[in-house]
Amino acid sequence: MQTRLIAQEKMRSLGQLIAGIAHEMRNPLTAIKAFVEMLPKKIDDPRFRSELLRYVPEEMERLNRIVEDLLDYSRSRPIQLQPTRVKEIIQSVLVLFARRFEAEHIQVKVQAEDELFVLVDRGRIKQVLINLVLNAMEAMASCEDKELIISAEEKAGEVLVSVTDTGEGMQEEQWNRLFEPFYTTKSQGVGLGLYISQKIMWEHGTLLTGSSTAGKGTTFTMRLACANEPTCGKEEKHAALVDRG
Ligand code: ADP
Ligand code: MG
Repeated sequence: MQTRLIAQEKMRSLGQLIAGIAHEMRNPLTAIKAFVEMLPKKIDDPRFRSELLRYVPEEMERLNRIVEDLLDYSRSRPIQLQPTRVKEIIQSVLVLFARRFEAEHIQVKVQAEDELFVLVDRGRIKQVLINLVLNAMEAMASCEDKELIISAEEKAGEVLVSVTDTGEGMQEEQWNRLFEPFYTTKSQGVGLGLYISQKIMWEHGTLLTGSSTAGKGTTFTMRLACANEPTCGKEEKHAALVDRG
């Protein structure tokens, strides 16, 4: 009897979860559909064209992100480490959001040396950075001064990559639940971004850490293995760490 009740409860939460995700995907789909339907009539209207060019790629990116997050939640693909220039990862993420930074008046600062290399799975670390930048932008949505700082510095054989925002910050109880799957405080959130990011960090043998002050802002820091020789040269130690996972 007890087991059946638990099973029913689980099915109910699963149902709610799926409804949440379906809802989440319907919003961008509705927006894209509306643009496509108006296209034959309004194709010559310059304002329509510029709105279409702004919103459709953004909404498609939102859909894509949800699908990527769900796939990552369910699969465990082995990571492939390679020396990568940190600045390249950062720039590849920032170009994705250039239009949005401008539209939302977000000031972006990058503080990283050109010759700093990390030993990472480039695609997956890029994904962590995308999640952190998205969260930072969302946290600043209703703030006056929006500043996003991405910094990278070498410290004792590691490279610390931090994402800082001047957004709404978090209360302690929020902070304690951040990395739970499906934990979100957003009406438009899925709550997988940080869970998956932490999973990716764990696969790299490291962790995502950070600090936050309600009303002031938040910083998340990725600790990555430095791949600069001979200053760092911690690949072996790092490989041992990764083996563990
Ligand atoms: P989602 O963005 O879909 O809500 P995440 O896992 O990315 O899911 O984040 C979980 C929650 O952590 C968010 O809903 C929010 O409450 C909090 N959070 C994450 N990053 C920030 C940030 N930079 N500033 C304030 N709150 C944040
Ligand atoms: Mg998120």
